[in-house]
Amino acid sequence: TPAHKDYELARSQLELGEIIGEGQFGDVHRGICTVGGQKIQVAVKTCKPGSDMAVTEVFLEEAYVMQQFDHAHIIKLIGVCTDSPVCIVMELAKLGELRAYLNNNRGNLDLASLLLYIYQLSTALSYLESKNFVHRDIAARNVLVASPTCVKLGDFGLSRWINDQSYYKASRGKLPIKWMAPESINYRRFTTASDVWMFGVCMWEILTRGDKPFQNVRNAEVLNRLENGERLPLPSSCPPQLYSIMCRCWAAQPDSRPSFTVLKEALREILSEEKSQEQE
Ligand code: ATP
Repeated sequence: TPAHKDYELARSQLELGEIIGEGQFGDVHRGICTVGGQKIQVAVKTCKPGSDMAVTEVFLEEAYVMQQFDHAHIIKLIGVCTDSPVCIVMELAKLGELRAYLNNNRGNLDLASLLLYIYQLSTALSYLESKNFVHRDIAARNVLVASPTCVKLGDFGLSRWINDQSYYKASRGKLPIKWMAPESINYRRFTTASDVWMFGVCMWEILTRGDKPFQNVRNAEVLNRLENGERLPLPSSCPPQLYSIMCRCWAAQPDSRPSFTVLKEALREILSEEKSQEQE
């Protein structure tokens, strides 16, 4: 499609390396891409050879979404190969998925690091908010780790899915119910305010160092609990002011939730307080 024109890469610019993940369309490889005479490390998402045109279009849609953004905490698109096997080339997050990273480093991640990740994500989301872009799938599984002091939002796959429910259900089965705002579960209403709710859940995942929200609750039961006023519990070692911010993200009324711009400022303050306390 014309939208991808400037981003087209020649196959010869790409060297594929080991597989580092599995996407819903195919494997994700580590790789090296030569651009302007420079070799850079990249992640390459592939679309299974033999996928039909419609599937390829949906696959490339994510690249189209990513190319609109330029932010330090959002994975950048480097380019696409539109001849088969079709692939999307993007900036590599060397340390992989945040959830696994949190689980594997439980012992040596202090509160200041967790707060830094949360703050960085809030800057990315406040950027998306300023562009009126609704993400719809904010969760730790969609955050990647570039370095011990830098995380990036890395998946723009869901934004397109909701528009085509039949396709969505057929290919993926379920929505991320445990992350979703009540109005999203009830009426499929997705707004910046529902993104804020999801970010609250993502904060909780980070502060628990990678626990799963509502682990022993069935999807069908989650909405009942939320409507009864139940919320995810205070993570151990989470400062109360931070938990109170999370709870504001989980206000039943979408209008009562803070904007990402407001969240970003509040988180910046909590982060700098934590840093200064650490130095004492
Ligand atoms: P889903 O919609 O189920 O999340 P997807 O097709 O969008 O799947 P991703 O989740 O984006 O695929 O990618 C699959 C995995 O590949 C990720 O979980 C991660 O481990 C790895 N991966 C993807 N992009 C990158 C990247 N830029 N840097 C490092 N690893 C990546």
